[in-house]
Amino acid sequence: MNAPAPIPTIALVIPVFNEQAVLPELFTRLTALFDGTHDCAWRPVLVDDGSHDPSASLIRAQSARDPRFELVELSRNFGFQSALAAGLAHARGAEAVVTMDADLQDPPEIIPQLVVAWRGGAEIVRAMRRTRAETGLRRVGFDLFHRLFGSLSDFPIEPNTGTFGLIGRHAVEAFHQLPERHRFFPGLRAWIGFPTADVLYDRQERAAGVPQQTFRRLIRYALDGVFSFSHLPLRVLTYAGIFVACMGFAAGLFFILWRIFQFERSPTGFTTLAALITFLGGVQLIGIGVLGEYLGRIYDEVKRRPNYIVKPAARSARPPPC
Ligand code: UDP
Ligand code: MG
Repeated sequence: MNAPAPIPTIALVIPVFNEQAVLPELFTRLTALFDGTHDCAWRPVLVDDGSHDPSASLIRAQSARDPRFELVELSRNFGFQSALAAGLAHARGAEAVVTMDADLQDPPEIIPQLVVAWRGGAEIVRAMRRTRAETGLRRVGFDLFHRLFGSLSDFPIEPNTGTFGLIGRHAVEAFHQLPERHRFFPGLRAWIGFPTADVLYDRQERAAGVPQQTFRRLIRYALDGVFSFSHLPLRVLTYAGIFVACMGFAAGLFFILWRIFQFERSPTGFTTLAALITFLGGVQLIGIGVLGEYLGRIYDEVKRRPNYIVKPAARSARPPPC
């Protein structure tokens, strides 16, 4: 008789930053899910991204109650993408990894469907929003980014997908081969390839608390998304340069001919000059800005600083007395 197939371990990587208000509900809903499904071994990895509130202690207490819950504590706040990378590194060895937010906007109840799609042969399963809970400026920002990213990137991401999803072990290993510092998870997930499936879900409101990603940080990730996945801004600059140079040449020729043939009195041209100087100044500044974006990223990459620092487990507690 054949031995029963071993059940796969599924890790859940969940970045946490100041989420004390949602953690109790997150623990309850995850535990209900784990207790209701027996064909996988669950391994929730909560990455505390330098919270200023007692999130880390809450996770530690939960881990003491239920050892399936693991805490990875970063030495300070490194940002969502870095916390995610830390969790993925920690979860190596699991057969598959679910990536999700802590605030329950990504409902854990969808996870079994992600697992079914993975078992069906997809190495990457993206949870796709049927509806979005965000409204106002944040919503406009998300929509604008997806439209921009879609038209710029060589590896467009599906507009209604985000971090929430599942990636198999081979995809996790592929992630670890990507050495870059500026990481934009959905873009990298599209870049690594592999058979991909989508599972529809309704994006929820945050269960409690307020969004922890500031608008500034979201804009930074959006820029990372664009500049790490496209050289188009540089190419646009070249085209703009060629266009402006041709226009300048044509205008110069026009004024020389005007002067030679003296059709009319030569133009005094102050307005034209002022307009041209400001226009060209603007184009040049934009050009320098775009170059700077790439240059800054190259600088960050060559420094080769790690993306995050994990607090050693022993340091999480108080140091022993001397
Ligand atoms: N988060 C994090 N580090 C940060 C900011 C946020 O780990 O510096 C976590 C946060 O706790 C949550 C997830 O990232 O689990 C998504 O953050 P949030 O809900 O604030 O962002 P949004 O839903 O607007 O993308
Ligand atoms: Mg959220």
